[in-house]
Amino acid sequence: MNKQFDALVIGAGFAGAVCARELAERGGKRVLVLERRSHVGGNAYDCLDAAGVLIHQYGPHIFHTNDQRVFDYLSRFTQWLDYEHRVVANIPGQPGRVQMPVPFNLTSLETAYGAERGAALGKKLMDAYGAETKVTILELRQSEDPEIRQVADYVYEHVFVHYTMKQWGQTPEQIDPNTTARVPVFLSRDDRYFQDRWQGMPLEGYTPIFERMLDHPNITVLTGTDARARMELTQGQVMLDGAVFAGAVIYTGAVDELFAFRFGRLPYRGLRFAFQTHDADFVQTHGTVNYTVDEDYTRITEFKHMTGQSLPGKTTTVREYSYAYTGQPGETPYYAIINQSNNALYQQYKTLAEGYENLHLLGRLAEYKYYNMDAIVAQALALADKLV
Ligand code: FAD
Ligand code: UDP
Repeated sequence: MNKQFDALVIGAGFAGAVCARELAERGGKRVLVLERRSHVGGNAYDCLDAAGVLIHQYGPHIFHTNDQRVFDYLSRFTQWLDYEHRVVANIPGQPGRVQMPVPFNLTSLETAYGAERGAALGKKLMDAYGAETKVTILELRQSEDPEIRQVADYVYEHVFVHYTMKQWGQTPEQIDPNTTARVPVFLSRDDRYFQDRWQGMPLEGYTPIFERMLDHPNITVLTGTDARARMELTQGQVMLDGAVFAGAVIYTGAVDELFAFRFGRLPYRGLRFAFQTHDADFVQTHGTVNYTVDEDYTRITEFKHMTGQSLPGKTTTVREYSYAYTGQPGETPYYAIINQSNNALYQQYKTLAEGYENLHLLGRLAEYKYYNMDAIVAQALALADKLV
């Protein structure tokens, strides 16, 4: 029996790091964390690029939550920079290009239709749905009022359909409705991307949060270590380095990979990130600009807007290109593609995992869910509550 550690955590993203810390600190367990990348932090990892700009290696991450426990917990490991994310859609207009707030709101309406007509349409929408309410694009398209339908069609065409086709290879009707519901039409002047009670950026970046969280005498972290080289699942038992491991095993990677794709691959979307450094203080007006009608990328993010970094004369942006993940070397699964048949396939893997009493699936990949960071932290704390 493998007795050097009491718990094994695979993956050092938010799921793995929070769980490891809690088991070590609250549970007094000796925890081994295996991470196959060369660094901790999972997809929230950030670092300085060659020009000295703080970038998010795996896409832009903005922290936001309504969960006080999550906010208080992370605040043990970081101070916060006040930051409220604002996004605009960049669309072809007459003449040149036009920018309007996303989520589409009362200001967007006036940009699209002109001040007077936009205000009248805004009033009509608020009479129908209420001021300060959020209406999903799919709901809005159900309206039988011809003017509201006209607005719905405009928003569908200028904000949702092309962006969603780029991101998912499918139309808004074909994907999980909870996905487009993340970005509703908002009958408000509030042009923030999130309305959560707590939102901001970690003052010194995300990576130091992970370094502090994992800095505990009971925790051993091995980066550059793929768990598959050390761990084996056989007949209801988890083996570590050839011996039975009886402690809790928290797995935060892709579950189909854990079981060698026995039932076939779970579908995911991958992303290619194109970073570019510019000799300028800033190159765009907002942290993120969504290209909702044309271009083959979905959005461009300029990190300095978000991180508050002061670095004159240099700024770095990232363009995101989405593609159908196939599992080729160099590809990373970023988004689970939630639908009935994929959920059923996931369930087969989950049932298989349940045959291993001490194995726990946790996180965006292992649970095959579209989780934000705060939801993962909440899940990790809940699992730790159960295990401690
Ligand atoms: P991950 O961060 O993916 O960590 C899993 C870790 O496990 C990885 O480091 C991986 O290398 C490791 N691993 C996997 N298999 C093995 C193995 N066999 N052996 C060893 N290690 C292994 N959320 C927000 O709240 N706000 C945002 O603005 C936001 N923006 C996002 C933008 C993009 C482009 C993406 C893709 C996600 C975004 N998210 C955002 C979601 C956020 O990234 C996730 O909620 C969070 O990072 C998930 O944490 P996790 O620990 O579950 O997974
Ligand atoms: N979406 C869209 N146009 C936009 C923004 C979002 O069509 O300008 C849709 C799209 O389907 C996207 C989903 O809403 O995948 C969720 O957007 P969000 O910004 O939350 O995605 P994430 O940041 O997680 O990639």
